[in-house]
Amino acid sequence: MTLHGQSIIAGKPTPSDGEKYSAINFATGEKLAPEFHESPVSQADAALKAADAAFDDFRAKTPDQRAGLLEAIATQIEALGDELLQRAHAETALPMARLTGERARMTGQARLFAKLVREGSWLEPRIDHAIPDRQPLPKPDVRRVYQPLGPVVVFGASNFPFAISVAGTDTVSALGAGNPVVVKAHPGHPGTCEMIAGAMVKALEQTGMPTGVFSMVHGKGNEIGMALVKHPLTAAVAFTGSLRGGRALFDAAVSRKNPIPFYGELGSVNPVFLLPGALKERAPQMAEQFVGSLTMGVGQFCTNPGLVFGLEGNDLGAFMDKTSALVKAWAPATMLHGGISKAFDSGVEKLTSAKGVKLVAQSTTPASKDAAQATAALLSTDIATFEANPELREEVFGPVSLVTHCGNKEDLERIAESMEGQLTAAIHGTPEDLKQHARLVRILERKVGRIIFNGFGTGIEVCPSMHHGGPYPAATHSFFTSIGTAAIFRFVRPVCYQGFPDECLPPAIQNKNVTGAWRLVDGDFTKADA
Ligand code: NAP
Repeated sequence: MTLHGQSIIAGKPTPSDGEKYSAINFATGEKLAPEFHESPVSQADAALKAADAAFDDFRAKTPDQRAGLLEAIATQIEALGDELLQRAHAETALPMARLTGERARMTGQARLFAKLVREGSWLEPRIDHAIPDRQPLPKPDVRRVYQPLGPVVVFGASNFPFAISVAGTDTVSALGAGNPVVVKAHPGHPGTCEMIAGAMVKALEQTGMPTGVFSMVHGKGNEIGMALVKHPLTAAVAFTGSLRGGRALFDAAVSRKNPIPFYGELGSVNPVFLLPGALKERAPQMAEQFVGSLTMGVGQFCTNPGLVFGLEGNDLGAFMDKTSALVKAWAPATMLHGGISKAFDSGVEKLTSAKGVKLVAQSTTPASKDAAQATAALLSTDIATFEANPELREEVFGPVSLVTHCGNKEDLERIAESMEGQLTAAIHGTPEDLKQHARLVRILERKVGRIIFNGFGTGIEVCPSMHHGGPYPAATHSFFTSIGTAAIFRFVRPVCYQGFPDECLPPAIQNKNVTGAWRLVDGDFTKADA
């Protein structure tokens, strides 16, 4: 497929004379064609005006029509075939097997949201009938349902070129809820973005949707992203990326004259707690699982286990020995881009130069810096050093983890108490350990979005019960998730209708229950007509 390198405004390639940049294959150093044109702010404006103009028409589509769009997106992406995988592989250096799995997650997500939207219970329709003769005052007819917000701006992350990018979880949940979307393409994989955007445009045409429902702009600097967030027609923003970038855009979103919701999924260090019973029972197996998680995707996951806490003793020693051997044997691999690789090296350097921190093991094969490779690293420290140095808690994006040797249960609890918000925490233990450390679990409930028992946060399941978020700085709004079907709630708000004639109400809260969804009618859940 020949790529054009242009913005896509209201479904059409749109040229600009903005600065040009190219994607780079960091494994080989090769510049990839074509050159991409930075979108000027005027294109952000055009995209949002088109999105706003399309909004009323799009939200009036039936749930079945919107579900059909999401299914068509999945089918059109699949029709791109292996060319999409090859482009993403060249732009991100992620292995083909990983990309194949992530493509299935992307299309699976679109179909999962299609099912949700078609079924209809997610709208949480509520109906309270009037009681005209109620004493001392008549009760009015009151009904409530969710309505979409308006144009949603989506920023994807560099490390998920499919599942959290152009047609990723943010886009399909926003579209499913009835919102037009304007995507800021990630400059790390612009060609992948263009191919997926092309598939989306075809899906919109095929399903007869208004063209303004989807646009995509390019940019390597901050200007275009800021312009999208500050634009008066933007109704909400979904962002996945760094704490620094996310915080800057969040501040812009909430400092607008009319502040808008900004759903930022940011970084996390994902603490892991190794409890004594589990260490005694299976330290070597835990080490294998741990190194698998640490090095998965070259450690470039927001759920990567960056900090480990274990109780000092022979069993922790056995865990460290096995982990060291596996880390040493891990072959260096190319990171997403040169910037991430440099940031990783300087992060590891900063950690290892801290007084009281020891470099326990590192991949024995040297990394090729020309190929932006990372070596895995295992560091250790003691509880006093960890508690005295707040910088040891910062995310270093890549395959490095710091193990803190703790003295007792109270140390683990104090550390958990002092943690900032996290996406995940993992506890490795026996059922008896868990009983003994019940307070640790109570503390973590206040700190993280997902607590994992005898597993790790990487390899996230996309399902209705998933929560991928957490208290700040893991996310900018702890109630919401970006992964799983609950992600759709970010892009709606409740609207209450009082005293309306039945035929003038939104279909989901009319007396006849057309989709057979669960509804709360006069205080009871039912699928019957109201
Ligand atoms: P990033 O550098 O923050 O970039 C994300 C997007 O935001 C890019 O399009 C970037 O465009 C834009 N951006 C960043 N700062 C901006 C600013 N100040 N103004 C305007 N636009 C801005 O993040 P990344 O390198 O793609 O991803 C790695 C990070 O994402 C890691 O910290 C990781 O933990 C986190 N992450 C979180 C999750 C999660 O679900 N919580 C998932 C994956 C990754 P420009 O490059 O053009 O500025």
